[in-house]
Amino acid sequence: MSQAPPADAPPIHDLIGIGFGPSNVAMAIALSEHNARVGGRETVTAHFFERQPRFGWHRGMLIDDATMQVSFLKDLVTMRNPASDYSFLCYLQSQGRLVDFVNGKSLFPLRVEFHDYFEWAAARVDDLVSYGHEVVAVRPVVHDGVVEYVDVTARSGSETVVHRARNLVIGTGLRPRMPEGVQQTDRIWHNSDLLTRVDALGDAQPSRFVVVGAGQSAAENVSYLHRRFPEAEVCAVFSRYGYSPADDSSFANRIFDPDAVGDYFTAPEETKRKLLDYHGNTNYSVVDIDLIDDLYRQSYREQVLGTRRLRFLNVSRLAEVVETPDKVRTTVESLVTGEKTALDADVLVYATGYRTADTLGLLGEVEKHCRRDDAGRVRVERDYRVTTDPELRCGIYLQGGTEHTHGITSSLLSNTAVRVGEILTSILDHRREPDSDRRRNTSDEFSTPL
Ligand SMILES: Cc1cc2nc3c(=O)[nH]c(=O)nc-3n(C[C@H](O)[C@H](O)[C@H](O)COP(=O)(O)OP(=O)(O)OC[C@H]3O[C@@H](n4cnc5c(N)ncnc54)[C@H](O)[C@@H]3O)c2cc1C
Repeated sequence: MSQAPPADAPPIHDLIGIGFGPSNVAMAIALSEHNARVGGRETVTAHFFERQPRFGWHRGMLIDDATMQVSFLKDLVTMRNPASDYSFLCYLQSQGRLVDFVNGKSLFPLRVEFHDYFEWAAARVDDLVSYGHEVVAVRPVVHDGVVEYVDVTARSGSETVVHRARNLVIGTGLRPRMPEGVQQTDRIWHNSDLLTRVDALGDAQPSRFVVVGAGQSAAENVSYLHRRFPEAEVCAVFSRYGYSPADDSSFANRIFDPDAVGDYFTAPEETKRKLLDYHGNTNYSVVDIDLIDDLYRQSYREQVLGTRRLRFLNVSRLAEVVETPDKVRTTVESLVTGEKTALDADVLVYATGYRTADTLGLLGEVEKHCRRDDAGRVRVERDYRVTTDPELRCGIYLQGGTEHTHGITSSLLSNTAVRVGEILTSILDHRREPDSDRRRNTSDEFSTPL
């Protein structure tokens, strides 16, 4: 008979997920479907921690007319299980919009609509998540010199909770990237907060915005601010000659295929570098062609009408930024002539991209068990499991931060459904290994029954 756990023992799970963005929502769905289908000894127990008070996917960029950059068929489930009832199509059916969506003949829903789909899906697995809980520490549980479990500490206000797990799935997403040394203020924004910041302006009537960057977010910010503030001038500053279109042609799109992950993983370093080079323009520093066309038409219309308030300062960089109590004084330098132009703005928006959150940063003592390559990058297996030394027997899985090993889909939605299926299979396979069964039986009196 199994011994009862001490009253203060942390709850033990097969898996703890850090973050509950689309990647870990998909993970929760995959294991819920697995448990419903197989159950019994194969049941996978899990809990997720999300620091936001409720589900939210890039809320600051839910611009009303922005569309998804990925087909709705690459939702949280379909590429793994086309029969899943967590699909975008089932969501549409539940909202009474299936027929109307189909008549629209588009693969690319509105971003707000996909956000609503994510929320709908997340709500169906919300028994597995604690919102408003930020994971602040991970500690190894050492037994006979090996680490079979980790303790995960999550903070909610002044309270902390500790849960124990055999596997961690880290899906902590992206962080806004500001230029070196620049802090966000009430007048200096990163585009990730666009809508929140605009709301906070209240009745103010800004006369000029400067937007730095030439990627999708930059172009969306320029277009939105221009539309939202009909009296304001919007100046786009970027070092390119013009916005470049995203390559979403069919052959190039194969770089997002599940098979492309395997090819990339297997390829030598030099080929990996080339693939990212060749196909970076499917995702990085590029803009939807429709948005480019809209901006150009708008700009030309203003030229004809003599009402110019959309300005493009191309082949340029911000040479200086000085914030005063009521303005941001920017100096824009032409990279052609070196000429400097002073532009006083009410708001300066940096649309300077995102970086992956430091995936291993939370691991504390556990991190020293994780192996790195010669370039200092974390080593990750094909199944997204971090390569560790033999003393660490629990699994650390990464959703994101694997571009160097798994390619361009690492931080995107394209491969999420398939990736979580692979992670789940890996967790089950490790659990079935005979020697790990033996280890578990000898070292774990308090685990949930498998
Ligand atoms: C504006 C915008 C639009 C995009 N559009 C597309 C698109 O159309 N198609 C596409 O493929 N990709 C798109 N992307 C890329 C984007 O990375 C993915 O869409 C998606 O967000 C990845 O999901 P995720 O769950 O891995 O990360 P995230 O969505 O970033 O979620 C991570 C979650 O982890 C939480 N978290 C972080 N640290 C902790 C912690 N310590 N404790 C608890 N919780 C924590 C965060 O609060 C967050 O909710 C877009 C990105 C942006 C910024």
